[in-house]
Amino acid sequence: MKVNSQLEAKLSVTPDSDFSIYNIPFGIYSDDTVQHRACSAIGDYIIDLYELESLDVFDLNRSVFLQPYLNDFIALGKTVTNGVRLKIQDLLTSENTNLVTDEKLFKTIFKKQNQVNMLMPVKVGDYTDFYSSIDHATNVGTMFRDPANALLPNWKHLPVGYHGRASSICVSGHSFHRPKGQQKPADAELPVFGPSKLLDIELETAFIIGKSTKMGESVSTEQADNYIFGMVLFNDWSARDIQTWEYVPLGPFLAKNFASTVSPWIITLEALEPFRVKGYDQNPTLLPYLQYKGQKNLDIALEVFLTPKGGEATKICTSNYKYMYYTMEQQLAHHTVNGCNINVGDMMASGTISGPEPHEYGSMLELTWRGTKPIKLKDGSERKFVNDFDTITIKGVCERDGIRIGFGECKATLLPSKD
Ligand code: CA
Repeated sequence: MKVNSQLEAKLSVTPDSDFSIYNIPFGIYSDDTVQHRACSAIGDYIIDLYELESLDVFDLNRSVFLQPYLNDFIALGKTVTNGVRLKIQDLLTSENTNLVTDEKLFKTIFKKQNQVNMLMPVKVGDYTDFYSSIDHATNVGTMFRDPANALLPNWKHLPVGYHGRASSICVSGHSFHRPKGQQKPADAELPVFGPSKLLDIELETAFIIGKSTKMGESVSTEQADNYIFGMVLFNDWSARDIQTWEYVPLGPFLAKNFASTVSPWIITLEALEPFRVKGYDQNPTLLPYLQYKGQKNLDIALEVFLTPKGGEATKICTSNYKYMYYTMEQQLAHHTVNGCNINVGDMMASGTISGPEPHEYGSMLELTWRGTKPIKLKDGSERKFVNDFDTITIKGVCERDGIRIGFGECKATLLPSKD
């Protein structure tokens, strides 16, 4: 598949672009002239889908592209949404197209990505966070409990998760204030109140539900892919000192719900299919409802960068989605096995994605091993956790046989706590 050579040059579709012809993700943008519109991306440009549909290429009611979120579009179902994606690929690869010859039309449909704002792609009704990386769970269990029994007895039998907070999920490019809360220093008898001193990142991805269920229904591992629209990068910001004190016995609460960051482009499951790899060997054998067939893991190379204010970015971690112990299909089957209903736009995050090597750990807690091994930045300074005015950027890319699709960026800046 190759982009029309004239369009390829005009749209700057280069070999290292995240937005190749094989990607065709979905998002929502705004600019000086447009409040919110559905769009896709190719090379350095966004594709305004409402304007593209002025050519009547999708046989859809155009108003679906004028909504503030993609939920209504996604709810049309995969036949429609993937049909739109395939049609865009068709148009961009066509040798005879008025997208090349009609300059006015070109300018209406294609806009430079650096000249638009990307908005939240979906209205998130419910947000769930899993804990499905075996290396992450082992590291945390080793640090805080018992190295000999790092994993709790349930961990290898079910994908552990908790219900998070949807209201504070923000799109890449935002900033937020360092949270305040209760902490109990190890040497203190009573808790103290103040800004979190141990503000951390969690390198994650999230999948977005593409099809709703009714209460009482369950989605099997076999059916799960029909219910997964696509994936985004996800930073589950965490205040470790608040977390340590508050999490017993019901799990994360204020240590996690102050902010989460997502990348603006939803990469469809169809675009990700060529990057499937074999899943983790799961022993002991799981209960039948969690078993699955085929290659259901994904090879997504992940990177995290830390950029101090006015400074240079330092790569602090390299990981990969393929290190996940549980697959998205298993997570969704588990989530719904009790009859819990899901809705289009729901977001389900992977949990911190750590690999086996120390440079592959997906949180600063692990990278600095609880602050005992500070990270050296390019400017010579050190970090145990995130400082005020630091910017954290997550990137993700799939590459195989000359095909490359990227996720774009998931980026946010930490501001000092509010007075
Ligand atoms: Ca998390």
